[in-house]
This record gives sequence, C-alpha cells and structure tokens, in this order.
Amino acid sequence: IYKWYRSGLNRWHGPGSTPDFQDIIEDRCYNYTQRIRPDSRSRNCQEIKQAFMSAFISKDPCKATKEDYRRLIDLADPTVPCNKRVLWSKTKELAREYAKLRGLVTLEDTLLGFLADGLHWCGEPGSPDLNTWSCPDWEKDCRTNYRSVFWKVLSERFAESACGTVQVLLNGSLENAFDEMSIFGRVEAPNLKPMVTLQVWLVHDPGKPPRDSCSGSSITKLKSILSERNVRFICRDNLRTRLPILSNIRRLRKQPCGLF
Ligand code: NAD
Repeated sequence: IYKWYRSGLNRWHGPGSTPDFQDIIEDRCYNYTQRIRPDSRSRNCQEIKQAFMSAFISKDPCKATKEDYRRLIDLADPTVPCNKRVLWSKTKELAREYAKLRGLVTLEDTLLGFLADGLHWCGEPGSPDLNTWSCPDWEKDCRTNYRSVFWKVLSERFAESACGTVQVLLNGSLENAFDEMSIFGRVEAPNLKPMVTLQVWLVHDPGKPPRDSCSGSSITKLKSILSERNVRFICRDNLRTRLPILSNIRRLRKQPCGLF
C-alpha cells in the first residue's frame, strides 16, 4: 500500500514541495515585514501563511486558478513604487543586483515574490499535506499548476501596475534574448500600460560571443508587440561603457561576474 501511495505522489516530473515550506514562508514573512521593509510591519504573517497554504492544500495540483490566490494577494498586495520596477528573463541574479544598486525593485523584492522565490509547492486531493515527492512541471505535466499560476498572477499584476520607466534585463548571450514563451514575453511585456517606457538592457556573458543584439529579430519582435500597445521602447546593447551599473557591480564583487 505504501509503495502504491508513494508512486501516486511521485507521478509528476517537477521537484516536490520544498521541505519545511510552511516554516520558510513564516520565517521569510517575519524577516521581510520586520527587518527588510518595516513599513509593512502591520501585515499579519500567520494569516498570510494560512492563506498561502489554503490556496493549494487538498486540491488537484493541476487545477490552479487565479481565484485560489485571491485571498493571499489581498492580504499581501505589493506596495512598491510603480516607477522603480525591474523585470528580467534568464538574468535573475544580475537583475536583482542591478535593482539593489540602483534602489529599484524586482518582483522578488515584493512581499509575495520574496516569500515564494526559489520554492516549490503542491498538494494532493484529499490530503492535508504537501507533496514532497514531486510537483507538476509546467512543460511536462500542466501549465495550470499552483506554482506557475502564482508567478503568472504576480507577474501580471507587477507589470500592469508599473508606471514611468520600466527596465528589463535580457540575456544577449542567447540566440533569442526576447523569448516569447517566457513569463516576461507572455505575461509581463503584453501587460505594460500604454505610455510606459520599457528600457531594455541586453547583457552579455563575457566568456561568450554575443548572440543577440538590439537590432536582432527577437528584439524587433518585442518592439512590435510594444508599439501595438503604445509602450515606448529603448534598447541598449550592453557595451560595458554604456552601462555604468556594470562596473559598479564588478567593483562591489571585486571579481569577474557572471553575465557581462
Ligand atoms: P526565465 O525564463 O528566466 O524563467 C524564470 C523562472 O521561471 C525559471 O525558473 C523558469 O523555469 C520559470 N518559469 C518560466 N515560465 C514558467 C511558467 N510558465 N511556469 C512556471 N515556471 C516558469 O524568465 P521568465 O519566464 O521571463 O520569468 C521572469 C519574469 O517573471 C521576471 O520579470 C519575474 O518578475 C517573473 N518571475 C519570477 C519567478 C521567480 O522564481 N522569482 C518565476 C517566474 C516569473
């Protein structure tokens, strides 16, 4: 019986729920609301944790909906400034450093983004526990899993409520720096408000020849998606001299870093 039960829990292709998921959420919530952003001190971490758990516990892990996360989002709606946002695609660590140095914010600097960053979670119908064996993979199992829907909802709200200049760091060492199937491509870019300016930084891996540029076909595609929506567009290839942050980051680390 145990083997049968386990094989049921093991059927998905993605990693199982992160061990101690609940404790991590709680610790991160206190850390964020008490230390990182004390202006959010009034948030109730117990309530937030409970809303997060009840969004997916005991439910079919492939049938997540936006609605499931409504209560969580109401309790922890982001309060970060609308004109200081940084998006990223295949450049996460760099984007986070860039944002930090410039006093800007990525989705992972908002309360919910911070709570869930790097974690996996899913439940099992009829069970009060998280499935720590496996969770649905968004490509191999189902797109409407609880992790994908969570990031989709958060990313959509983060992009649609942005104003002024929004920056995005894209990876110019890939053949298509703009990936239409990524969350940035499917969810964030198409939800920017008209009159927002999108500033694209194309960053390159120093060890590799650049494979895409501001005049390449993937960025041209992005430009056309944005112009249909009346979003202004600026693109800079990351020639080191043009992006002052890069030398700052390098100085900060005092060693060559990943993506330039
Ligand atoms: P990306 O391709 O670098 O993917 C980022 C992460 O999301 C990767 O772990 C990837 O495997 C996963 N991912 C991508 N599409 C997914 C989907 N449909 N369902 C579940 N996971 C998926 O970059 P991206 O896809 O353009 O996403 C980055 C943007 O979206 C950022 O601007 C960020 O605000 C937001 N986001 C953040 C996270 C996170 O883990 N912190 C995850 C997804 C999206």
